[in-house]
Parts: sequence; C-alpha cells; structure tokens
Amino acid sequence: MYRVSRLFTHYFLLSCIVGFCMETKGAALYASLFGKQDASSWYQAATKKALEQFEVNSDAIGIKRMNGVGPFVVGSGLFAFSMNNVWYDETLLGKLSEKQRLFAVYHEAAHIALRHHPTQLLYLFGASISTAIAFLKFPMLKESQGLTKSITLLAAIAVSGCGLTKLVKNQERAADLKAAKLLIKLGKDDVVKDHIIWLQDVVNGGHGHDEQVWHYTFDEQLNYLKVLF
Ligand SMILES: [Zn+2]
Repeated sequence: MYRVSRLFTHYFLLSCIVGFCMETKGAALYASLFGKQDASSWYQAATKKALEQFEVNSDAIGIKRMNGVGPFVVGSGLFAFSMNNVWYDETLLGKLSEKQRLFAVYHEAAHIALRHHPTQLLYLFGASISTAIAFLKFPMLKESQGLTKSITLLAAIAVSGCGLTKLVKNQERAADLKAAKLLIKLGKDDVVKDHIIWLQDVVNGGHGHDEQVWHYTFDEQLNYLKVLF
C-alpha cells in the first residue's frame, strides 16, 4: 500500500514538473488527452476576441472541442474548462442562449488571463515537495512502517487535495468576477445579466445549495455576481 501511495506521489510530482516546465508544449500534450479537434468558428472567434480584450496573446492557445475525458474526471455537466488550451462542450453549451455562451467564453478567457492552471501546478508541486521532504526529514515519518506510513501519506495527499479544491473554488469565483467586470466595462451588461438569469433558474429549480467540489454553490455564485449591479 505504501509503495502504491509513494508511486502516486512520485507520479504526481513528475507530472507537475512536466506540466509547469512545458507550458506551451504542455498545450499539445493536454490536447491529445482532452480533445485536439478545433472548436467551431463561433467559439474560435469569440475566445480569441475575449483573450485580446484581456490583453493575452492567443497564438499559442488552442480552442478545442472537449472529448469525454474531462467530464469523466470532474463529473458530467462540464460546459468548458481551460488548461493552457480552452475546451468547450458545444452540445451542452448549445442548450444555452448566445449571451450565456458568451459568458462561458469570457469566464474561460479570464482563467487564462489570471494564469490559473500554472498556479494549480505550482500548488501541487509545492504540496508534493513538502510531503516528500517531510517523509525524508522527520524521524517519526521516516521510521514509520507499513500501514502507518501508508495512512500518513494518504492523509497528506487528502489534505493537499482539500487545499486544491479550495484554491480552484476561489479561482472559479475570480474568473467569474473578472469576466463580469470586463463585460460590464465593455457595455455588455446584458451578457452578465443573462448568466445571472441562468443561475437564478438553477436556484429556483432547487439546486441553489447543492454541494459542488470545484465551484461555490449556485446560490453563492448568484450572490457574488448580483452585487455588481
Ligand atoms: Zn472555470
């Protein structure tokens, strides 16, 4: 069990180093995993425009169609996500109004502008390194055996995981707010208001307090966006 846990930590550490050091090449690597087919022209044009408005060079950023891997990892209902590239589920987004889709585009562009994915990798790298150092340096951990060692390592991974979910939740809120503020500044208040209407519909449908791993609840999202008006 300890060997499996240790292997997991080493894999984790290695993937963080590769991901962080190869930020541009990592984009191609991620595309082969999460979908390398280009998104349709509307998403291409809208994302490029949003990135320009956030003053981000969009040349190295792929705008792709999501395959099944992303939803498999984080759960169904994933409209879009970004990790060096941006991926969209065009079928799911097709159920929204054009303004609601545009909010999703600005939200993803905000993630890129705020460099959220590199920050996540940096966090994971720090968490892995500190766990490895703790096991090498602290006699109590170094000398622990078998099951105790495995449980301690798994606990360290769980604590790091909790920290990651907190970090991602705050990044999601930051991306929502950055997108909304830019859209309001550009005179596109109606796009933000349409997203608020969508959130209100979800809350009215009884899902306002549903616990979510990577996002604040819909009720909380509604509250931090409503105060902008
Ligand atoms: Zn997001």
